[in-house]
Amino acid sequence: MIAPKELKERIIREATSSRLGFILAGVTTPDPPPHLSAFENWLSQERHASMDYLADDRSRTRRADPRLILPECKSILVLALPYSAPSLIQAPLPKLGEGREAWVRGNIAAYAWGTDYHIVIPEKLRALVKFIEQQVGHPVPNRGYTDTGPILERDLAQRAGLGWVGKNTCLINPKLGSYFLLAEILLGIELEPDPPFTTDQCGICRRCIEACPTECILEDRTLDAGRCISYLTIELKEDIPVELRSSIGNWVFGCDVCQMVCPWNRFAAPDGDSSLKAREGVPHPQLIQELGLTPEKFNEKFKDSPIQRAKRRGYLRNVAVALGNSARTEAIPALKKTLEDKEPMVQKHAAWALQQIEKKSK
Ligand code: SF4
Ligand code: SF4
Repeated sequence: MIAPKELKERIIREATSSRLGFILAGVTTPDPPPHLSAFENWLSQERHASMDYLADDRSRTRRADPRLILPECKSILVLALPYSAPSLIQAPLPKLGEGREAWVRGNIAAYAWGTDYHIVIPEKLRALVKFIEQQVGHPVPNRGYTDTGPILERDLAQRAGLGWVGKNTCLINPKLGSYFLLAEILLGIELEPDPPFTTDQCGICRRCIEACPTECILEDRTLDAGRCISYLTIELKEDIPVELRSSIGNWVFGCDVCQMVCPWNRFAAPDGDSSLKAREGVPHPQLIQELGLTPEKFNEKFKDSPIQRAKRRGYLRNVAVALGNSARTEAIPALKKTLEDKEPMVQKHAAWALQQIEKKSK
């Protein structure tokens, strides 16, 4: 039988090996998360907008006690998988004379440039569980999550020693920044917990609060989710409120502003895990062309991509808003054609974009 200390070392080594690619790994207990009351307070103020699944009774009780998710749980392994740092990628503009005059660039949040992490990470978690079972020589009760279950993952990551929760609400590691995705495995084996990360290294910095285009970062390290561009361009399934449209700029899926301005991301590695590698044409899409995506072309371009979450109707709604914000007259013919799109929501946002362009070009 392997000594507990040696077992933990082997697990961390395997998780952070080039085979699996996690850049951070730490262990915490299944005790209730330390900042549960702040989360409950956030829910009671209805800052979660239309994301009702966060507030249902089953999620709330399970979030309060990870042992309700896995009764055999004795420890929680918290992991971080890196994605490419957005600020270091140059926009792929064509050369002058190759249609550059008609190029209207959009922005997509960096975590969504490649294959959906909901596909990539569970595979890695299964491989890690298999490794653990080989080491201990018997099946181990387990449950893996990545942004999918009723778990306060940043809270657990902080308690596992991975970093602190910044004012922008992201988990920040002092050596690696915040361009990574968190994942957890609840395990039915005892592993020694790591010491929690106890310092707040934001200090007097307020860059993210000041840079947020929709001013949705609140003073208590929570977000007014209903105003956050990530929510508006991904989770919101209806019209984008008119008063928020101009603040969205050219973000068409998610937003990285509060991470791009964070000084701790100067230390982020430029390349993410190869399984999340950017696909051609995704990070900065040519918005006029995107308006021409038929359902078939949309599914082909975004096969296994997180962008499927917005569906074609949500994505083209966002593209129309970004084109309206661009005020570029070159977009007028494509927007006029979009007035006949089969989706009424897309039509409506294209009409708004045309009005914006007309107003701004006077
Ligand atoms: S993702 Fe964008 S909109 Fe949301 S909090 Fe960060 S900067 Fe603000
Ligand atoms: S930008 Fe400044 S305040 Fe915001 S998370 Fe980073 S260090 Fe903290």
